[in-house]
This record gives sequence, structure tokens and C-alpha cells, in this order.
Amino acid sequence: MTGFTPGRRWQPAYSPFQKETFGERALRVIEYSVKGPLFGCHMCGNCLLAETALICPMECPKGLRNGPCGGSTSEACYVDPSRPCIWYKIYERSFEWGREDLLLEVLPPLDWEKVGKDSWGAIFKNAWNIGAKKILTGLISSETRAQTIDGIFRPVRQPAWWKGDSDYHPPAYVEPASSLQGQLVAGNFVVTAEITPPLSSSTDKLIRNIEMVKSLVTAVNFTDNQGATPRMSSWACSQVAMNQGAEPVLQMSARNRSRGSVQSEIIGATALGVRNVLCVTGDSAKMSPSPRDQMDINDLDAIQMLWVLRRMRDEGKYLDGREIKNPPMFFLGAAASPFSSNVKFQALREQKKVNAGAQFFQTNLIFDVNGMENWLNELAKRNVLDKVFILAGVTPIKSLKMAQKLANVPGVYLPKDVLHRIEVADRAGNAQEEGIQIALEIIGKIRGYEKQGIHGIHLMPVGWDEVIPRIVLEAGLVRRAKALPQFVEVRSSGLGVPAM
Ligand code: SF4
Repeated sequence: MTGFTPGRRWQPAYSPFQKETFGERALRVIEYSVKGPLFGCHMCGNCLLAETALICPMECPKGLRNGPCGGSTSEACYVDPSRPCIWYKIYERSFEWGREDLLLEVLPPLDWEKVGKDSWGAIFKNAWNIGAKKILTGLISSETRAQTIDGIFRPVRQPAWWKGDSDYHPPAYVEPASSLQGQLVAGNFVVTAEITPPLSSSTDKLIRNIEMVKSLVTAVNFTDNQGATPRMSSWACSQVAMNQGAEPVLQMSARNRSRGSVQSEIIGATALGVRNVLCVTGDSAKMSPSPRDQMDINDLDAIQMLWVLRRMRDEGKYLDGREIKNPPMFFLGAAASPFSSNVKFQALREQKKVNAGAQFFQTNLIFDVNGMENWLNELAKRNVLDKVFILAGVTPIKSLKMAQKLANVPGVYLPKDVLHRIEVADRAGNAQEEGIQIALEIIGKIRGYEKQGIHGIHLMPVGWDEVIPRIVLEAGLVRRAKALPQFVEVRSSGLGVPAM
């Protein structure tokens, strides 16, 4: 049936935690008795069905309200492989119905005052305020129908504290916030590298690795409990990097954070000197070692986090409306996944991230440069390429075991010929060297896109940090310190243009 999709519940419907009046309870029971069987409604209190092609997004085990995570595939949700990713269904139907542009609107996180309560009351109330006559007249004409419907639903789904939209919001500042942004704006092909945070509280190895790479790369990323597995925090590693004179990219995952802690941490991190922030939704706690964290709730997703942080920086406001006298300053990034899903779906998701505030992308691992080109073409169709800097993710394969594992990681595409090369090299006891050569070849090919949307390389050695210098040097990626040019207004394109 195409009209509705009865969802399976991953968790029970929410319950109201406040006392209800008789009328509120009656309305809730009626709404749930209709939407429960039809849509698997969870009574989130802020219904998005109209934007999500009549499929309830709250079936997503991560509770994502702005699109799929990077781990999903068309076959299965990676948290619960016994079901398909609900966001694929939403995307498929939205494209089928020609309503995909509705998916660009940045939708708010749950309002916990409303969770468990009805959505219909607010919709009826809003319709009442508009007036029956105005609504009927608006609905009759095909020219005003969509606008009339939007007038009823938008104020309900986009509360005053959120005001999400589908528009691009260029950064409201001019001078580069960081050396990374400065290098990119200056047109330099940059290199960033990921260093694995330590498992212990000793910083000796961390410092050694930072010292090893700091003169070779523009900035160093520190992952935020990758795989939902606790390690030294990204902000602590960032502080160590700054002490060593290296520029960090602070990674913040939405997992395990509330909207309150996200805002507090960004104020603290920027006060300490962090100037690059990468927002990710984060791996599900499903990937963590046992005993696992709570798996069913993310207070924010990466897109909502971008939206909150951008507004703190550019509008000087906390989510609750309080003013920030000295707003935080940072260069805001997000992860991008060229191979996560259907490339059209993925491009829409990346556009939404850019609209929400992403100024740079660091992509997931790239082993298929032609596939990356398809993704770039889709981004170009969506006019995204002139609004975001893209650093292509490259990983040297260290062993056959790693290659076999990567071949099964959702969001990563490892072509058969690459796997075959590692298999052959492994038999000759030469897998590591072959992995390095493959990485160098990929970097060489990616550099062919330097003027076509790719602005640098993001090295992710997955714990093999010692390999970074060799790859940077042999690929000819050594950073050449250049004096930053003067910058002109960045609002026009969002990227910034060096003054002539
Ligand atoms: S979006 Fe919220 S209110 Fe709407 S069907 Fe899903 S859980 Fe229910």
C-alpha cells in the first residue's frame, strides 16, 4: 500500500510525563488510536508526517529526524539489521512523489514538554486562528494550496525556538576562524589527519604522534569515542594538540550528548582556543562493547547540532534565546558519505548539512574515485560545491583482515580489485606496502579533482598513525606555509575569496 506505511516500533510510544486535562487525554488517545496502527506513531508530540511522505521517522532506532545516518544501507538499518532503514523508505517515496525538497527543511529535536502528548490540538488551534474561510479559499486554488497547508502546519512543526528552514545560511563573519579555514580560502590544497585518542590517561604517545605530523598537516582531528567506545575525549586531545602548537579539529558526536551539553561544551572548547569543530551524529551504542549505553535516543542529530552551533556563532544566541555576549568563533564542519546510500539521497543530505551550517566536509573513506565523481556531480546539481570545502577521506589499508572488515562496513565501498590486490600482496607477505601504494594512487587520482570540488585530503589511518608522514611526503602533499592573503566578504559564496 502506498498511502501509508505502518511502522514497527523499536521502542514503546512515549508517555506524557505531566498531568493532562481530560480533553488533552481524550485527544491523545484518539490520535494514537488512529496514527498508531496506521503509522506506528510514537506520539513524539511534534508530527513530521507531512514532511516525511507519511512515514513516521521515529521508527529510526537512533530517533533521527533529519535523514539517515552514515551507517544505513538500502537493505538494512545497521542498528537493527532485521528491518530496513526507515529513512530509505522516506527518501524513496519523497522522490517518487516529487516531494524531496521538503526533506531539506531542518527539523527540530523533540520538545520534551510535548513528548507523549497529541499533535492535533496545536494543528487545530492554528487552523482556527487562520480561519475556516481563508483556509477553504486557499485550498481550492492549486496556486495557493501548498502555501495554505504550510501555513497551518509550519508554526506547529517549527516552534519559535527553532525556526528551521530549507535555506542556505552563509557564515556571518569575514576573517577566517582558523588556520584550516585560512588555508582553504587561500586556495591551498590542504591535508588534515586523524590521530587516534589514547585509551589510557597517559599523553606520551599522543604527544609523540602530534609532534610527528604537526609540520606536515594543517590540522589534526581527534575522534570522539569512535565506535561508541570510550577513549580520551576529543576536547582533551585538542587541548594537548594546542599545547604542542598544532591546530586541532574537535570532533563532537551527537551520541551521548544533550542539547544542553553541546552548547556548554562549545562555549568551553572555543574559550580554550579550539577553532575547528566537526559535527557527527556518531556511531550507535550498538557498536560499543558491553554493557552498552542507552541505544534508542539521540537528543540531537548532526544536522540539528550544526544548526544550533551556527546560530550560537552567527546570531549570538543559545537555543533558549539567551544572548551570548561574546559568541564562540569556529569553522564548522560535518562528515560526508559519498557511498552511504543512493547518491541522489546522499547529495540531498549533504545539501541539508551545508544549509544547516557545514562549511567543510571530511568524507568517509574513498577507494573508488569514479564513485566520488558521481557524488560530486550530484552535489553540483544541487549547487552545493561553491558553498563547502571538501576534504576527501583516505585510509591506507594495513592488512588483509582490515580490508575484509572494510568491505563490510556500511558507508564504505571497497572495490573488488582493491581487495584482490591486498589478497595477492598478503600471500606474498606484502599487504602493508600494497595498502600504502593503493592509498598513494587514490590520492593521485583525487588530486585530479582539485579544481572540481575537492580541496584537500583527510587521512584516516585508523590507529596506524606512524604511516602519516610517509603518505604525506610520498604523495607530495607537504604543506607549504603561505602567508594568508587578506580576505574579502565571505557572505556571497560562503567560501570566501582571496582579495586580488
Ligand atoms: S512524527 Fe511523531 S507524531 Fe508523527 S507519526 Fe511519528 S511519532 Fe507520531
